[in-house]
Amino acid sequence: MAFPKEIQELSDAFASLPGIGPKLSSRIALYLSVGGKNLAKKIENDISKMVQKIRLCEQCNNVSTESLCEICSDSQREKLAIIVVEDSMDLYNIESSGAYKGLYHVIGGVISPLNGITPDRLFIQSLFDRVKQDSSISEIIFALNPSVEGESTTIFIKEGLANISSNLEMTQLAKGIPFGSDIEFISGQTLRDSLYSRNKI
Ligand SMILES: [Zn+2]
Repeated sequence: MAFPKEIQELSDAFASLPGIGPKLSSRIALYLSVGGKNLAKKIENDISKMVQKIRLCEQCNNVSTESLCEICSDSQREKLAIIVVEDSMDLYNIESSGAYKGLYHVIGGVISPLNGITPDRLFIQSLFDRVKQDSSISEIIFALNPSVEGESTTIFIKEGLANISSNLEMTQLAKGIPFGSDIEFISGQTLRDSLYSRNKI
């Protein structure tokens, strides 16, 4: 027996989300369609609001409801350093560690030619432009996930930045973060330690 088309389509949509396999997606779709109709309405409403209001910050590409995100528009933030992260999840995890009061740049992934992700598909040029335009930035801290792609993306950006500015300090989170792990899942304490003992690269 197959589920009615309406449930199957919803299940297929959930299955395309990160971390949700076909079994869990069917379970959620079934739950929402039977006992969870109030929740389904709320989710429908929340998603529609999110689609309308959320956009990317014009400066750092973090999620935002305004043209500049909460961090970029905060006059209290230190404006000397930028942490380069893959996505807003990593940004929020570093933020919640409380160890950093500077700025960020979300590049939207890592370079992975095998998966068709070339540098022009990421927000790398906008980081170069930002550094060109703002001479007060003196340090770039790389916090990409410690993977082969993360490392090669760091090297690519580092070389590009070195051509733009010769006196830019470039550092990387210390290696307390295990190779192959996700910044998203690293504890606040490990992130604080990695940030304080970051290495010059
Ligand atoms: Zn921003």
